[in-house]
This record gives sequence, C-alpha cells and structure tokens, in this order.
Amino acid sequence: MAELPIKTSATRDAIFAAYEAQAGDGFRSHLGASLIGKDCERALWFDFRWTTVRRHPGRLLRLFETGQLEEARLVRNLRSIGATVLEVDPETGRQIRVQAHGGHFGGSLDGIALGLPEAPKTWHVLEFKTHSAKSFNDLAAKGVRGSKPQHFAQMQIYMHLTGLTRAMYLAVCKDTDELYVERIEHDAAYAQGLLDKAQRVIFAMLPPERISNDPAWYQCRLCDHAPVCHGQTAAQVNCRTCLHSTPVDGGWHCTLHQRALSEADQRAGCAQHLYLPALVPGEQIDAGDGWVEYLFGEGLRWRDTGFDKLAGVGSVVEDRP
Ligand code: SF4
Ligand code: SF4
Repeated sequence: MAELPIKTSATRDAIFAAYEAQAGDGFRSHLGASLIGKDCERALWFDFRWTTVRRHPGRLLRLFETGQLEEARLVRNLRSIGATVLEVDPETGRQIRVQAHGGHFGGSLDGIALGLPEAPKTWHVLEFKTHSAKSFNDLAAKGVRGSKPQHFAQMQIYMHLTGLTRAMYLAVCKDTDELYVERIEHDAAYAQGLLDKAQRVIFAMLPPERISNDPAWYQCRLCDHAPVCHGQTAAQVNCRTCLHSTPVDGGWHCTLHQRALSEADQRAGCAQHLYLPALVPGEQIDAGDGWVEYLFGEGLRWRDTGFDKLAGVGSVVEDRP
C-alpha cells in the first residue's frame, strides 16, 4: 500500500524545527571510533577536517534521539536478568571513554556489564543499536561483522582500548521490538589495523585517494562529503581546513599565529585562513606571503587571500575573478 501523505500541522512543523535549531554543525573534536569502520578513508579525513556541515531534517534528528532513549531501557532489561551494568566510569561519574593518538581518536561506551548469562564471570563492552525491520533482518542473517561492519569495528576499538576481551551487541527492531544479541571476541590484529587507519587519517596533510572518481558511484551518492570531494563545492572555512593548522598531542596548533587552538578558535577560524591546497579543485601555480593562486580547468585563475574569502564564503568556482 502506498504511504499516505502526512497531514501538515503547525505543531508538528514547530517540533521538527526545534530539533533543527538545536542541532549543531556535526563537527566532533575527535575522529570517532563509531566511524572508523567506514570504507572510505578520504571520507574519514573530511570528517576529521570539518569540511562539511551536516544538516539533518528534524524528523531524522528525532529518530536519532529514539535510538538514544532505547539505551536506558536496554540497561534496565539487563539489570532485570541479574547483570551488573556500569553506564558511567565510577571514578569520574562520566561515560566510559577511550582515546588514542593524542586524544584525536576515541569514543564513549554505552556501558560495560558483568553477569551476562552466556559468560557470567566476564566483563563485556556493551553496544546498543536500534534498527529498521529491513536492517534488523539483514543483521540477523549475516551477524554484526557481515551486516554492520562499522559497529563491529567500533566494538573492536572499545575492547582494544579498555583491555576487555568480549563485547555484547544488543539490537532492537523498531518495528517489532524483537531483540538480537551477539557476543563478539576481541581481535587484536584487526583492532590494531583500525588504530593504524585512524593514525593515517589524523596526521595526513593530504586527503587519501577517492574510492571512486565517479560521483555517481553508490558509496559517493550516499556520502555527505561528495560535493567537496568531487570538486563541486568549497569546504567550510575553519582552522581544520586551513594549511596553517596541525593536529598535535592533545589539541591543534596554528603555525601562523604560533598558538594553540581551542575548539571555539577552530570553529571561528580567522581572516588569514588559506585552504589546504588539496581542498581546492584547481592546480596550485603560485604562492606568496598570505596568498595561494590556483589555475582551474578552463584557464581561469583564483587567488586565495584568506580575508576576501571570509567576507563572502561561497563555492571556489563562484569566487573566481
Ligand atoms: S564522495 Fe566517495 S570518494 Fe569522496 S569521500 Fe565520499 S565516499 Fe569517499
Ligand atoms: S591562520 Fe587562522 S584559520 Fe588558519 S589555523 Fe591559524 S587561526 Fe586558524
């Protein structure tokens, strides 16, 4: 049966608009363990370098929240069968966090648990996810590694960095409330490969190669970064897209102003911002004090001078004289 159109309502629209107003730019200070299983390293580099603002519709933002709300219920479910569940670090009172590579890589665990029926004496990393019926059926058929490789990678990192050897994946089907539970074993070599991947992404001054040069490739069509990656839109202006910034132990450093950059500084950027040349879809042909000049395919030149660009951020192509 075809889906019925949603009846418009001022209240419904206002609720979704409130979600959109409260949503941030999606930029995270660190490269998240939840992302490291992505196929495309270039997409991870764009994530880490804050090239693309993500805007989700209010309905989708509310759906994300539904997934988060389910976590408390799953914790209650586990406690109701006698398991001990720690949602926060008893020493800090905060979510249990792991990190590596000078704090530039990491994530927060949903919890850890002891007393699970399958292995009552073993502490497990807990990972909670909600799924549509289609996604849930695929998960049930292929298991976490086959169906949700990003979630599998996330749990491997959590086990590797906490020293725990087992994880439990608890999935809920949003359509039926059916549960899928799978225990995952730590794979040290696999997890180390992911840590190496994170290191490559974090400290690369150049974006890794594309997984396809065709914007119509199925992974590129689903990728938020496609317009920047395939040279159709300029990257955002902030310190992370500037050639003067470098990730250092515990934070970011500006080589032009010779100072550490707080997260607020990084978001704001400054008038001396110059794009990392790899983010400009032209050939770098000249450079001087405070500027870099590029040649584009049609023979047009564009000079990145920082200040002008901040005065009117647009696409690189539109900025050409
Ligand atoms: S558009 Fe394609 S190649 Fe570019 S970052 Fe995304 S997935 Fe990778
Ligand atoms: S020059 Fe400005 S935009 Fe570039 S890293 Fe330094 S403070 Fe950030």
